[in-house]
Amino acid sequence: MNTVTTTIPREEIHRQLALCRRAGELLPHGPGRPAAFVDTYGCQQNEADSERLRGYLREMGCAFTDDEGEADLILINTCAIRQHAEQRVLGNVGALVHTKRRRPGQVICLCGCAMQRPGMAEQIRRSYRHVDLVFGPHALWRFPQLLLRVLEEKKRVFDTEDSPGSIAEGIPAVRQSGLKAWVSVMYGCNNFCSYCIVPYVRGRERSRRPEDILAEVEALARAGFRDITLLGQNVNSYGKDLRLGVDFADLLERVNAVPGDFRIRFMTSHPKDAGEKLFETMARCEKAAPHFHLPVQSGCDRVLAAMNRGYTRGQYLDKVRRLRALIPHIVLTSDIIVGFPGETREEFLQTLSLVEEVEYDALFTFLFSPRPGTPAAALPDPVSPEEKQRNFQELVDAQNRISAKKHAAYVGTVQQVLVDGVSGDPEHPLTGRTPGGRLVHLTGDAGPVGSLIPVKITGSSTWALFGAPADADPDNN
Ligand code: SF4
Repeated sequence: MNTVTTTIPREEIHRQLALCRRAGELLPHGPGRPAAFVDTYGCQQNEADSERLRGYLREMGCAFTDDEGEADLILINTCAIRQHAEQRVLGNVGALVHTKRRRPGQVICLCGCAMQRPGMAEQIRRSYRHVDLVFGPHALWRFPQLLLRVLEEKKRVFDTEDSPGSIAEGIPAVRQSGLKAWVSVMYGCNNFCSYCIVPYVRGRERSRRPEDILAEVEALARAGFRDITLLGQNVNSYGKDLRLGVDFADLLERVNAVPGDFRIRFMTSHPKDAGEKLFETMARCEKAAPHFHLPVQSGCDRVLAAMNRGYTRGQYLDKVRRLRALIPHIVLTSDIIVGFPGETREEFLQTLSLVEEVEYDALFTFLFSPRPGTPAAALPDPVSPEEKQRNFQELVDAQNRISAKKHAAYVGTVQQVLVDGVSGDPEHPLTGRTPGGRLVHLTGDAGPVGSLIPVKITGSSTWALFGAPADADPDNN
């Protein structure tokens, strides 16, 4: 396995930035600036990638629009993790035939994981002839060069070359929010869970250098960002390829030392590698949000082994106990796949009992989706879709009861809430997040958006908390 990180030289990124100007001149547009529509599917890593693609588009002089019918350039960042997400993208891309008919110069670009999946680029080439540019995650850094080829040579361009992956520093980002920022600390994955397409489309694990990450966090803190999420497919593998003696816990400690008033989150942490050092570091770092996303996927040892997850139910539960002993108020969330090939009712019940035992604050539940090319897609699967759906619903119902109970326990407490937006609800016009990331709907006007304020929790539901800014009256606290 190739574990040597390939770094794209800074001069190469400067060259790409220089190409942006020429691409901007050639992009079709009306009297104003070219309008770009960017749509992102899937995970936070894709969101982070789209922020950098928007950075390149801004360098091209583009303005951004939410209306694809008005756009001179459409860029769709796709997800391959589930069949449903892929089909949805393809349906939307198919519909763009009509948009382009009304706006013939429109340039349509597809990128992201689904484009890197074997066979997909060929399908687009044959069946979606209105698409001009297709590129995978490995080619993101050379988007300006690829777009320029489309515009200058007036031909369709496909760049989905397979590669172990690279690191490119210096691509500007247009952040979607002025409060919350994603910071990728590493890319790719070496774990090859048997159901997962990510290692095939995002390449091998490779880490950014600590000084580049710290420089980005320092700039974000100076710019007033209040919530920074360190991203990686498995953050616990951070640093292994760099061989600098800096692991993820060390990185967290260094990010915590960056001056500024912000919370640090991270995802995703693979249970087999999450351990004592990280838990202790989290407990020590005052900026680390008390939230841990620890995807268990199944509560049954046979299924975990078939998934190639590398831990047992007992080992997972030990880690949860240790984490809770060190950080008693930790908010714990997880991912679970229901209906892995051959999962029996008895095996599903083991997952259900794990969920009842752990009592997660929230769960992301998924029905198994076979991804062509992964080992799990080739496994026999005698369980009917109806039985899988029944199990799925049982799990969702159980978690909803637990979430409602956990949320009810907040009522009467005061939480430090980062007010992050406004909503259309006249009774609770503001939204915010607790330190552990629970959603709060609150009363008040837009004044405190962007601030961290004490909020008295007055009500709760399965999905959220409700509250009001706590006044200075100690009786109210
Ligand atoms: S750890 Fe497993 S589930 Fe997560 S990205 Fe890697 S292979 Fe996929």
